Amino acid sequence: MSNIIQLLPDHVANQIAAGEVVQRPASVVKELLENAIDAKASYIKLIIKEAGKTLIQVIDDGVGMSNTDARLSFERHATSKIKSAEDLFHLDTKGFRGEALASIAAIAHVELKTKQEGDEVGAEIKIEGSKITSQEACVTPKGTSICVKNLFYNIPARRNFLKSNAVELRHIIDEFHRVTMAHPDIRFDMYHNGSEIFNLPVSNYRQRIVNIFSGKTNEKLVPISEETDLVTISGFVGKPEYAKKTRGEQFFFVNHRYIKSPYLNHAVNAAFEGLVKEKTHPSYFIYLEVNPETVDINIHPTKTEIKFEDEHALYAMLRSTIKHSLGQFNVAPILDFDR
Ligand code: ADP
Ligand code: MG
Repeated sequence: MSNIIQLLPDHVANQIAAGEVVQRPASVVKELLENAIDAKASYIKLIIKEAGKTLIQVIDDGVGMSNTDARLSFERHATSKIKSAEDLFHLDTKGFRGEALASIAAIAHVELKTKQEGDEVGAEIKIEGSKITSQEACVTPKGTSICVKNLFYNIPARRNFLKSNAVELRHIIDEFHRVTMAHPDIRFDMYHNGSEIFNLPVSNYRQRIVNIFSGKTNEKLVPISEETDLVTISGFVGKPEYAKKTRGEQFFFVNHRYIKSPYLNHAVNAAFEGLVKEKTHPSYFIYLEVNPETVDINIHPTKTEIKFEDEHALYAMLRSTIKHSLGQFNVAPILDFDR
């Protein structure tokens, strides 16, 4: 008899997990922005170079980390956000898997600077391919700055698979939109290759959407609103005449988290039936608040899929709320010869 099974070393396990969590620079942007939000930041700055291929930096003014936590944050399954499986059912944070930093540090050069309120000095850690190469005290403002350089430096296949800078930047901007739209109470800036591309002051949902998508968006938006035991619905749908051939601005947020839901998308389309031309897509910016105990977010590592306890009721409610709002705004059905 011979035994052949062994436990994988941590850096190998981390690299495997990274395959799922980090598909492209935009995945890193998402994870770092979410961490900054979970750290209760009021101002978050995103700096990228070459569409994130050479640099992704996120600076926040949140709670920061102690020296020990800074080191621990790069371990797999290390998280301050849940303590037990029970906690999964009432999540109030974006993160909970404790995987992002470990995964990112397995496949990039990472520099972390962080300081908590009241501490005299902060901690600075450098880590490459899961190995800490230096840890020192440093002077830094309260909050956290993370630099991720040379993504996929040790996985040539992944690096070569990256698309052009224009495409990767598009993915990053899409992620930035999703995160910033869910949190108008936080100020966000974004810089690419030294130029400012977004400067989003603290505002409300409508104003944030307009700041992101231009002033013209304002006149397109029809507000929707409904409150029941199951769900609170708010946000906007685009007026039918602005429906486009391409699926552009379609966003669902559940408890401040962007999610994809073909099923709920269908509910929106059903509400627009007869109001938009065939093969055109209405835009929407829909915010749902539900009891965290009635949803499961732990379906996929990127956390953009979600399982609702009562999908059918939600579908019906969303459809009727939108129909009602469109009706109130006197949206006339399109005439047959218009098609
Ligand atoms: P998760 O977010 O799922 O907990 P991460 O790997 O993203 O896992 O982060 C690990 C831990 O590091 C977090 O639980 C948090 O305690 C800490 N952390 C990460 N980023 C920040 C930040 N920007 N500010 C403060 N703490 C942070
Ligand atoms: Mg996280």
